[in-house]
Amino acid sequence: TPGGGGKMSLTVKVLIGMAAGLVLGVIFNVIDSEFINTHIAGGLFAMIGKMFVNALKMLVVPLVFFSLICGVTGIGDIRVLGRVGGKSLVFYILTTGLAISIAIILALIVGPGNGFNMEGIDTSGVTGKEAPTVWNVFAAIVPTNPIAAFANGDMLQVIFYTVVLGVAVLMLGGKSKGFIEGCEYMNEVMMKVVTIVMAFAPIGVFCLIAKTFTEQGIELFGPVLAYVITLVAALFLHLFVTLMILLKIFSGLNPFIFMRKMRPAQIFAFSTASSNATIPVTLRSVTERVGVDNSVASFTVPFGATINMDGTAIMQGVATVFLANVYGVELGLGGYITVIGMAVLASIGTAGVPGVGLVMLTMVLTQVGLPIEGIALILGVDRLMDMIRTAVNITGDAVVSTIVAKGEDKIDMAVFNDPDAGMMTS
Ligand code: ASP
Repeated sequence: TPGGGGKMSLTVKVLIGMAAGLVLGVIFNVIDSEFINTHIAGGLFAMIGKMFVNALKMLVVPLVFFSLICGVTGIGDIRVLGRVGGKSLVFYILTTGLAISIAIILALIVGPGNGFNMEGIDTSGVTGKEAPTVWNVFAAIVPTNPIAAFANGDMLQVIFYTVVLGVAVLMLGGKSKGFIEGCEYMNEVMMKVVTIVMAFAPIGVFCLIAKTFTEQGIELFGPVLAYVITLVAALFLHLFVTLMILLKIFSGLNPFIFMRKMRPAQIFAFSTASSNATIPVTLRSVTERVGVDNSVASFTVPFGATINMDGTAIMQGVATVFLANVYGVELGLGGYITVIGMAVLASIGTAGVPGVGLVMLTMVLTQVGLPIEGIALILGVDRLMDMIRTAVNITGDAVVSTIVAKGEDKIDMAVFNDPDAGMMTS
């Protein structure tokens, strides 16, 4: 590390935090002491973890705003802007569709849930949510009130408004110089704020993981082990095979180097179970470690965190097959095509926050006529599955960002090939 002088890198510290949290959480879970559960894991650790996630979320809206203004004015050409937008949209939809299709095929082969015994399982209290229509999903992208969009952190609306604003700034030409310089300065300031928050990452991650594993017993897996194994296999297949093949084919970049560069962001996604809260880390990893130019990444990363959820789509696929098997329902090709369409649409319309995968699942199940009470079966294991699928979600965002940037010749290969590049190593 240049200037690091043998100090441990932040990535290593975060990894240690994660491992220590895991070990301590499992020990606490086994001890199962009332005091530890309420005051240590559920008290102190929960508080610090929450503070850390809040701090990450606090960065998202201003960071996206300033980096996106810089991105739009940096590209400077509305045609290029349209091309980046169009390409990333197509790739996001394609990868999500591919993810869930492979998940469904894998689940149909493995057949989790066949011969499942429903007796003694409480399925009351699960309520569904109406599926949005395609038209409503798209209509909601345009905000009525940008301040409200920023206040609520509605990312699609924030992105829409900021891009329009950036285009208007471009149209004013020379007059905009001061404003653009101001935004570039603010962007740098926000990056420093990210650095400050990241300094607390090892302890934040430690607390989040320790709390989660204190609460999550392994015994929860027992009845739905087949579901868990199929789902994790499908997630890993997408992460390590499908996405890496796509990266290699469309960008020619080395998948192993890419994966190494994404590790810190994946740890954050895993710890927070929120693509949204991970935006600052994904953005900095994609720009400073992979070498994607901010003009592309400032758009594709927050856009992807909102509309692209490969891991979540995979969970929809595996869960639908699992529940169809549990209830002995034959969905048929038409049913599964509906599931694919619904999952892709739902992932566009919903934000990347913890647990939304379950809400999406209620929409998908309603659409194909499966009882939504079935969700009760997988509720217990969902937090851990959420953590893994969020890591897959943000990796998908990064892969598409890299592919689109490569196509626009907006990747700094010196950064990509430098193993020490980026904030997490300093
Ligand atoms: N937690 C996921 C994310 O933020 C969404 C989900 O699958 O629940 O990407």
